[in-house]
Amino acid sequence: YLQAHGTPLHDAREQIGALIVLNDVTRLRRLETMRRDFVSNVSHELKTPITAIKGFVETLLDGAMHDPDDARRFLEIITRQADRLNAIIDDLLTLSRVEQGEEQGGLPLEELPLRPVLEAAVQACALLADEKALRINLFCSPELKARIKAPLLEQAVVNLLTNAIKYSPREGKVAIEAARFQDKVTIRVQDWGCGIPKEHLPRLFERFYRVDKARSRKQGGTGLGLAIVKHIVQAHGGEVIVHSTPGQGSTFSIHLPGC
Ligand code: ADP
Repeated sequence: YLQAHGTPLHDAREQIGALIVLNDVTRLRRLETMRRDFVSNVSHELKTPITAIKGFVETLLDGAMHDPDDARRFLEIITRQADRLNAIIDDLLTLSRVEQGEEQGGLPLEELPLRPVLEAAVQACALLADEKALRINLFCSPELKARIKAPLLEQAVVNLLTNAIKYSPREGKVAIEAARFQDKVTIRVQDWGCGIPKEHLPRLFERFYRVDKARSRKQGGTGLGLAIVKHIVQAHGGEVIVHSTPGQGSTFSIHLPGC
């Protein structure tokens, strides 16, 4: 879409030309549509748990609270839905912090050893892994350095590890590996879980995009984890790529510019 603003140019007696400014507003329109979609998605995502909470409270008030078993079951559901609301809001705040931080110049990129950052991410996921009796293997030379915003990168790796654990069978394994390849540093998170059908891969990093909504919800997912990863990796001038085979597993690779 082009928006034109025209101004006739005059000298003292006659019109000698015209100045026409053409603005390409395609990008602006696209941004505006994205913003509108985002607000409508957020509203929908927040409304779902609220509707559930309201429904179960009404059922309790209608008499279910007099049966202790029903009352306990419904209150547990209400707690789970409240947790869900919390998780969505936490992820929205993280996303907005990353976006805002970057607009204001962001954290500085620092040349740091990668291993401690990856170890901290593995540590943060230890409880979740234990619950599924799942092993996380870390391969990263202590000498490997990269230009990173350490707290942000740790968050990105935690998100990838959390997904790898969530979408893996019990007693499975997850591998995280970092190495230098030519002029790039690559961090690879690999699982041998359910995998992702090919047609979903192009949209996977969109906010609220989920392959299987019910499954994601059951796992406590918000649909924002990978959108956060993408933003963080972009803040490093890098890219994130996914390879996956249904039934065999998935590999998410973060490529960072070398030092
Ligand atoms: P969620 O909070 O639902 O996990 P994400 O943005 O982290 O949201 O991921 C988007 C979707 O991508 C998930 O709902 C899931 O369907 C799919 N996905 C992400 N990581 C994996 C993985 N390691 N294995 C299988 N599916 C995955």
